[in-house]
Amino acid sequence: MKNFSDLGVETSILNAIQEMGFETPTPIQEQSIPVFLETGQDILGLAQTGTGKTAAFGLPIIQLVEPSNRTIQALVICPTRELCMQISKDLGNYSKNKSGINIVAVYGGSSIERQISDIKRGAHIIVATPGRLMDLMNRRALNISTVKYVVLDEADEMLNMGFEEDVEYILAETPKEKRVCLFSATMPKSIRNIANRYMNDPFEITVGKSNSGNVNITHQYAVVHARDKYAALKRFVDFNSDDIYAIIFCTTKHETQDISDKLIKDGYNADCLHGDLSQGQREKVMNRFRHHAIKILLATDVAARGIDVSGISHVIHFSLPDDIENYTHRSGRTGRAGKLGVSFTLLNMRENGRLRDIERLSNVKFDKILIPSAEEVRDKKLVAFIDTIVNTEIEESIFDDKVMTSLRPLLTLPSEELVQKFLSLELRRFSAEYLNAPDLNTTSGDRTRDGERGERGGNVRGQRIFVSVGKKDGFDIRSFKDWVAQESSLDWKELHVDVSGVFSFVDVKEELAEKVITALNGNTYEGRPVRAELSGEKPGGSREGRGGRGGDRGGRSGGGGYSSRRSEGGSSSYGGGDRRRSSGGDRERGGDRERAPRTERSDRSSYGRDAGSDRSSSTSDRSGYGTRDGGRNRSYGGDKPAGDRPSGERRRRRD
Ligand code: AMP
Repeated sequence: MKNFSDLGVETSILNAIQEMGFETPTPIQEQSIPVFLETGQDILGLAQTGTGKTAAFGLPIIQLVEPSNRTIQALVICPTRELCMQISKDLGNYSKNKSGINIVAVYGGSSIERQISDIKRGAHIIVATPGRLMDLMNRRALNISTVKYVVLDEADEMLNMGFEEDVEYILAETPKEKRVCLFSATMPKSIRNIANRYMNDPFEITVGKSNSGNVNITHQYAVVHARDKYAALKRFVDFNSDDIYAIIFCTTKHETQDISDKLIKDGYNADCLHGDLSQGQREKVMNRFRHHAIKILLATDVAARGIDVSGISHVIHFSLPDDIENYTHRSGRTGRAGKLGVSFTLLNMRENGRLRDIERLSNVKFDKILIPSAEEVRDKKLVAFIDTIVNTEIEESIFDDKVMTSLRPLLTLPSEELVQKFLSLELRRFSAEYLNAPDLNTTSGDRTRDGERGERGGNVRGQRIFVSVGKKDGFDIRSFKDWVAQESSLDWKELHVDVSGVFSFVDVKEELAEKVITALNGNTYEGRPVRAELSGEKPGGSREGRGGRGGDRGGRSGGGGYSSRRSEGGSSSYGGGDRRRSSGGDRERGGDRERAPRTERSDRSSYGRDAGSDRSSSTSDRSGYGTRDGGRNRSYGGDKPAGDRPSGERRRRRD
């Protein structure tokens, strides 16, 4: 495999991208960088966001631009201001060790005077949206007759947004001798026409088929009545709340604002992005989302164009998009840079046909899931809460004599009663929220492709196999799946896995279970014997999409997490005492998105009962409730209501 140096990237840039975590080039970078650097050829790339295309053109441009030549040498044109800002930021990062390169971003909705003065100070690279660029050209504020490199990024989007004429006008103003690089997620005739007219025998690169083919994305859907969509959305978010970092797509500005308002009112950490917001408001929302101050972003398709935020755990389609390409674009916001993601569609019965169209035309395989029951959501929250307490470090300095005296009424309570009181307090909120909450799944008999009902909260039909290795053995989802696939000679696609601290689950179709068990049971992993057996539970679904991102702070103890802490003498009551600190903090660190296996037991006191850390104990519920690396976060997407509410200020739709 080639590295960036093999591709001809110079040292100053190599150092900069190393700091950004770029170790090996992505396929599009591997193909385009040498062509860009070493030949005079134009480049036509069929590639989507998430493939690394910014660096594919950005690194060569930074390398080729001459700081001593104080004219505009490169022009990057892209459809939206968000993308424009992102590209200029990326270019800035690539060039941070190469002094004297000025990059100016010009886009609508921001002070044109400031942009003009930035250009006047001397720009080597302009990153622009077409509308604002035209505006500046018409004001004679910038001269593109000197450019050597023109990049058209997300060209199909620019045409979709009605920028065709503008783009052609701009290209016509550039010199004849220039290099053109065009990137597009699709290659409709209109793009071919531009390529034919403005490019010279381009080197063609195709990377991946589309985001729909991204194996890191799990596509799920649930069917509910239209009137229950909001309640179902909340359930889904609550169930996944320990690590959710999501974009929820709505079809209209009104719906986007409405759902955002409702979520905020209900205590979720959400905000929205749509075309009625001012530029300042949009930037504020995006910044807060980027910094995880907002965990749930509601957006229209247009507003979300060009959003490049890494680490999105879930894309949620509150409404299906009007066209299939938008589904692909939306979903492509997650599952990036090798991470796993879930694209979840909330469907009402009338939309079923459209989902099938998407499935057929974009080659996506959807798995049906059931909206979790209120009880399941509560159980999961309970596990997360217990886990938070178990993992909370005791702040000894808090407990001086005075505090200890005040705590006396608590310390005299039997520890079991104390725990029950704390849990009752914690659960009261959920009990109220979910008291008598109905099953939200339709009973229409809607079937999955395989003719079976989906599993609640998950998506896999068949058998669940317990395997006695997990994160503590050095596995993550990917490596575990690789290992299971290799040992059992099965394809990745046939396996859904769930990796916990000291054990894991493999969900497979019924007929494959025996094969997996035979391959793994009695096998060894790094010298240790492996046990694999039917778990006796139904497959809990693809938690792969939710797992693996958070930190694993767990110890090896199974159900003993809580109990063993309790046995350390008086510390148990302190553990409870530290609850405020642990509950508020650290949502961003995320947790391990493990969901406890479903259990037969309902006895409340049983949560603390399974002492011991016998990692070879069977798959029973003990493993779930005591697992320390369960979600650390117990709040919803967050509890902080967003501060700055958007006003209804209108602005131009285009750039
Ligand atoms: P892009 O397709 O340019 O929007 O890039 C998608 C994401 O992948 C961005 O967050 C980049 O920073 C990241 N990225 C691009 N190239 C690499 C690479 N070679 N190694 C690691 N991450 C990369």
